[in-house]
Amino acid sequence: MGSEDLSNFKDDLEISLNARKILQKKYLIRDVDGNITETPSELFRRVAREIAKIDRLYDHDADVEKTEEEFFNVMSCFEFLPNSPTLMNAGTSINQLSACFVLPVGDSMGEIFDALKYMALIHKSGGGVGFSFSDLRPQGDIVKSTKGIASGPLSFMRIFDVATDVVKQGGKRRGANMGILNIKHPDILEFIAAKEQEGFLSNFNLSVAVDDEFMQKVEDDEEYELINPRNNEAVTRLRALEVFNSVVEKAWKSGDPGIIFLDEINRKNPTKGAGKIEATNPCGEQPLLPYESCNLGSINLVKMVKNGKINWDKLRNIIRTAVHFLDNVIDANNFPIHQIEVQTLKNRKIGLGIMGFAEMLIMLNVPYDSQEAIKIAEELMSFIETTSRGVSAELGRLRGSFPDFNGSIWDFKGYGAMRNATITTIAPTGTLSIIANVTSSIEPLFAVSFIRKVMEGTELIEVNPLFEKIAKDEGFYSTELMMSIVKRGSIQDILDIPEDTRRLFVTAHDIDPQWHVRMQAAFQRHVDNAVSKTVNLPHAASINDVKKVFLLAHKLKCKGITVYRYASKKKQVLYINKDS
Ligand code: UDP
Repeated sequence: MGSEDLSNFKDDLEISLNARKILQKKYLIRDVDGNITETPSELFRRVAREIAKIDRLYDHDADVEKTEEEFFNVMSCFEFLPNSPTLMNAGTSINQLSACFVLPVGDSMGEIFDALKYMALIHKSGGGVGFSFSDLRPQGDIVKSTKGIASGPLSFMRIFDVATDVVKQGGKRRGANMGILNIKHPDILEFIAAKEQEGFLSNFNLSVAVDDEFMQKVEDDEEYELINPRNNEAVTRLRALEVFNSVVEKAWKSGDPGIIFLDEINRKNPTKGAGKIEATNPCGEQPLLPYESCNLGSINLVKMVKNGKINWDKLRNIIRTAVHFLDNVIDANNFPIHQIEVQTLKNRKIGLGIMGFAEMLIMLNVPYDSQEAIKIAEELMSFIETTSRGVSAELGRLRGSFPDFNGSIWDFKGYGAMRNATITTIAPTGTLSIIANVTSSIEPLFAVSFIRKVMEGTELIEVNPLFEKIAKDEGFYSTELMMSIVKRGSIQDILDIPEDTRRLFVTAHDIDPQWHVRMQAAFQRHVDNAVSKTVNLPHAASINDVKKVFLLAHKLKCKGITVYRYASKKKQVLYINKDS
């Protein structure tokens, strides 16, 4: 069966057309001739069986059939989905189940090319990698052994970028990377401007790592030192505000770089004794130690609403199942290299998150850009945080705490046991949200209807189903109206639509950027890892708007921040209107 031909596709779960296209393209197992050999239901059965059987490692008499059924039910009802590598690989010969990795890059040829090799192995199995290149000596610096001149982080990053392109051809999905450079690195100005040239380092998201001291110097307009990591000697001084303005300007132009706030990340590092965190995975939601990996999973909030209210009992049960599931994934996992296995098993980090938050708010009749929505975000995430920690502590008592528990924040907080060093993460849910047919992660609606580009070359048109229903129920639905919405993206100026509906269906570009940041910060207050969020700005947003977003994110204790101004890249994932 050809990859675009859906005629033979056996849909036993009544999934959306978009979900079908995604599943058949990369997730459903094929035989040697390329024919799909499983249905969506069989996919979830394969995953449930593989993950449930882990219970026997801890209890010979465990009722694994019952657990398998529990896991199968939450996935096949689209109430909870594990990250893509688990869905693609569980129970197959690959069996690599994690989405997030961080690799160290040491300042020697051997270490750089080891990292390159490890990256290729991770990409091949569907994972994304974050790297800090801050330890590499700067361009033009000395190389003692050859009496040569160092190439610097950016030229090495080019090699990682090309290798990513090559591996992508045969891999399960696009390998994504995060490249991080410390603001004090002598090559920082080239790094900040690197993605101005469209197409350069296209497999990388870039983030500048800053600390509180730098942010203070920005505020006070003071100078700071650039330091050569090879010998820790200062090479020059720059005005902090000027460098910060350059980050802001380039982010305004192309979306890159973002910023990560290293001090906030390390204040919340659960295992400080195990070392400093210097990097995150590609989309920023998962700060990790060198060689650490993490597996994620997300709860579909649309399924947690009943009669216009959050169904807390159902949510509690799903959290319990999800934490059990994600902890089992660590033991079922076939790690791509030995160092990753060793490091991951020390802390056993998992990342439980959510998707469909924007739709949940609509179902609760609350506009996204409102104080009420912030309150709901905190209440919801605080519930997930507390409940999931309770489950991990219980698993810790039954199965043992993660090995680095002594001296960890959990130990200090008086938890007697804890199975996982981190439990919660807000992932972007780029593919999971399409499979579950809900809005992604905690993002507001991107548009009431829009065109989405998925995988290479596929385009999908989507109209928000909640909006369609209200329009039909209230009698203002018409084909002309829907067409006009596709063209505009926003419904705010369409006066034929009742005002309360317009208020409820605010889209990412209608929302004042500060609400994006405030929402991210609200979730961050109750998340162990980090929050993947893009502050989507309209094309007309100013450089100063971006600056305000970055400063507010630091003030509100976010761990990182990313902006994207509409149409600032020629190729982007979501389009409001094909002709725009
Ligand atoms: N990721 C990747 N390649 C991709 C998309 C995602 O390597 O094309 C990794 C990356 O580390 C990202 C993480 O998966 O931060 C989670 O992304 P997302 O939630 O969008 O993945 P999903 O499980 O929905 O596919």
